[in-house]
Amino acid sequence: RLLQFSKTNDLEKVKKTISELPEIIEVGQSDVKNGIEGCIGNTPLIRIKSLSDATGCEILAKAEFLNGAGNSPKDRVALSIIEMAEEQGFLTPHSGDTIYEGTAGSTGISLAAICRARGYKAHICMPDDMAIEKSDILLKLGAEVERVRPAPIVDQNQFVNLAKRRALEHTNDPKKQGRGLFADQFETEANWRAHFTSTGPEIFSQTGGKLDAFVSGAGTGGTISGVSMFLKKVLPDVKIVLADPPGSGLYNRVKFGVMFDSKEREGTRRRHQVDTIVEGIGINRVTHNFDIGREFVDDAIRVTDDQAMAMARWLVENDGIFIGSSSAVNCVAAAKLAKQLGHGHRIVTLLCDNGARHLSKFWAQTEAVGGSDEEMSLNDILNADQK
Ligand code: PMP
Repeated sequence: RLLQFSKTNDLEKVKKTISELPEIIEVGQSDVKNGIEGCIGNTPLIRIKSLSDATGCEILAKAEFLNGAGNSPKDRVALSIIEMAEEQGFLTPHSGDTIYEGTAGSTGISLAAICRARGYKAHICMPDDMAIEKSDILLKLGAEVERVRPAPIVDQNQFVNLAKRRALEHTNDPKKQGRGLFADQFETEANWRAHFTSTGPEIFSQTGGKLDAFVSGAGTGGTISGVSMFLKKVLPDVKIVLADPPGSGLYNRVKFGVMFDSKEREGTRRRHQVDTIVEGIGINRVTHNFDIGREFVDDAIRVTDDQAMAMARWLVENDGIFIGSSSAVNCVAAAKLAKQLGHGHRIVTLLCDNGARHLSKFWAQTEAVGGSDEEMSLNDILNADQK
C-alpha cells in the first residue's frame, strides 16, 4: 500500500497554516557555525536502545562520527594540534606550510580537511592495510598520501617514522615551499588535551554528571587519557575501562603492568603482525598519550574481530546505527561491562566513525559472518570469544 498524502487545495486552510507559523516556531538566537572548525565538538550522546534493553544498563554512546570536519573524534585533536602550532608560531595560515602525519586514517582526514580550510598542505603516511576508503577520502581532500607496509616502530618505514622523516626532509630542502611540521599525534599533548577540555566535559554535562563507567579503545591513547583525566577529577568513583583488540599490548599493560609477559614474548604476534580487521585501535608501545592517563584506567576488556563484526550487524539490525570497527569494539566492551556491573548502571562509550568508511574491509567481512536472517542474541556476541 502506498502512503498517500491529501493535497490541500483549500487556499484559506493554507493561509491559516502560514499565519499560525510564528506562534509555533520559537525564534532562537542565530546559530551559525564559523567554517568547518565551528562544527567540531558538541556531538550528541545517544542512548543505544537495543543494548540498554538487553543489558538492563543504560548504554550511552557519543556520536563522534557527527563531528563536522573529518567526521571522527580526531577532528578535536587535529584542530587542537593546528591551533597549538599556530599559537607557538610553527604554522601560519595560508602560507603553504605542510603538515605531516602518520595515521590509521582518521587523524589524517581531520587534518586534511582543516588544512584546506586554513591554507595548509597535508602529507599523510598510513599503513596500506587500512580501508581504501580512507586514502580515497584523503586524496579527494587534496592530501598527499603514502601507504606503507605495516611494520614495527623500530622500522624506518613504519608509517609514523616515515611521516616524521618526510617533515625533516621538507625542512632541509630549500626548494620546498613553506615550512614542514610533524603533527605527532601519538606524542603531542595537544591530543589528550583536546579530549580533556572538550570530550570529557561534554560527557559530564550531557549525563548531568551521572555515569558509572567510560569505555574506550586506544590508538594513540589521547581519547581514553583525556576523558578519564577529566572524569576522574569530577567523579572519582567513575570506572574507566579500555577496550582492546587482539595483538595489542595495552590490555596486558592495564591488567598486569607490562605490555607482554615472558611467555607471550616468545609466541604472541604483535599488532602489526595480526591480521585483524579492526582499525585505529590497539598498539604495542607506550605512547605519551596513553601513559599520561594510564593511572586512571581501571580495567581492560579484550574484544575479538568476530565479536566486533557481530556487534556491528546487531547495531544496524536493531538500532539502524551504521558504524566502523573501533566503534563496534567499544560497544562490545560496553555490553560486557554492563553484564559485569549488573543492572541499573550507566556506561558511556564512543561511536568513532561511520560504516561507509569501512565498506571494502570491515563491512565486506561482516556480512559474511552468519546469514543476515540469522537471529543473534547479545549473549552469542559476548560469548563468541569463548568458542
Ligand atoms: N577509532 C578510530 C577509527 C581511530 O582512527 C582512532 C585513532 N587512531 C581511535 C578510535 C582511537 O583513538 P585514540 O587515538 O584517541 O586512542
